[in-house]
Amino acid sequence: MRVQILPIQLINQIAAGEVVERPSSVVKELVENCFDAGATTIHIDIEHGGTRRIRIRDDGCGIIKEDLPLALSRHATSKIASFEDLERVASMGFRGEALPSISSVSRLTLISLVAEADCAWRVSTDGTEQNFDLQPDPHPQGTTVDVRDLFYNTPARRKCLKTEKTEFAHIESLIQKMALSRFDITFALSHNQKEIFHLPLANTETEQEQRVVGILGSAFLENSLKIDVASSGLQLTGWVGLPTFSRSQQDMQFFYVNGRLVRDKLIAHAVRQAFQDVLFHGRHPVFVLYLD
Ligand code: ADP
Ligand code: MG
Repeated sequence: MRVQILPIQLINQIAAGEVVERPSSVVKELVENCFDAGATTIHIDIEHGGTRRIRIRDDGCGIIKEDLPLALSRHATSKIASFEDLERVASMGFRGEALPSISSVSRLTLISLVAEADCAWRVSTDGTEQNFDLQPDPHPQGTTVDVRDLFYNTPARRKCLKTEKTEFAHIESLIQKMALSRFDITFALSHNQKEIFHLPLANTETEQEQRVVGILGSAFLENSLKIDVASSGLQLTGWVGLPTFSRSQQDMQFFYVNGRLVRDKLIAHAVRQAFQDVLFHGRHPVFVLYLD
């Protein structure tokens, strides 16, 4: 074969192979985009475990008409413009790869309205085109990304998917983790038109505890201590379970660094050491901790 440049959809499908493993990875990318857009309310509507439909609606800053085609293009981002920006990036995204990757393995519609415009615009794509057709739409301020038929054109990926129930369980647990990181945002999740949870934004301590209870159950809160310590420019806040409320699995351990959930050996070790004299072997502590 001669050397040739690959078609655009194939380039994006190769990128999708890395970032779009399953429906929950699509949800993660799209909800992070809502965070970056300054949304205060995010609706996540899922059908058939995300394989039939993933629709994410936000009330964030929106995308201007001229930028809609760019948002669907590779290496196009509004979040960084220079190497200096890259070194102090504060947004969740910056690579400009999520939307084009997702659109190359699904049927994607993007609709958006910015505050100053008189009407919202809609664009649909299957990741093959380079010229996009824009249509006016009655969408309110903010953005909707509607992803249908995920992996319809990548059978190998589709075969790796688990049952609808399992795929949805991944999505639900992802949204719970994200909701624990952003009390300033309302999250509403539905599956097959049925509301799974609606977590109103939580400003006061009581409201935040209500959210924690909504996600981890009232036993968690009743059996934990509130932590709030500051030292050498770092602040550690959150809730730590009493030794008597330990678990046989590490399934109630959430550690956020500057708002991002991290699974880190060093942190896990530090927590284990703090508990070492009070926990039996094979038992795991529960905690929701924020290090800023
Ligand atoms: P990245 O997040 O790395 O910039 P994406 O492919 O996820 O790349 O998104 C491309 C661009 O589309 C973003 O930089 C942003 O300008 C715009 N965008 C995507 N989703 C939203 C959204 N929900 N609200 C506002 N703008 C968005
Ligand atoms: Mg992104």
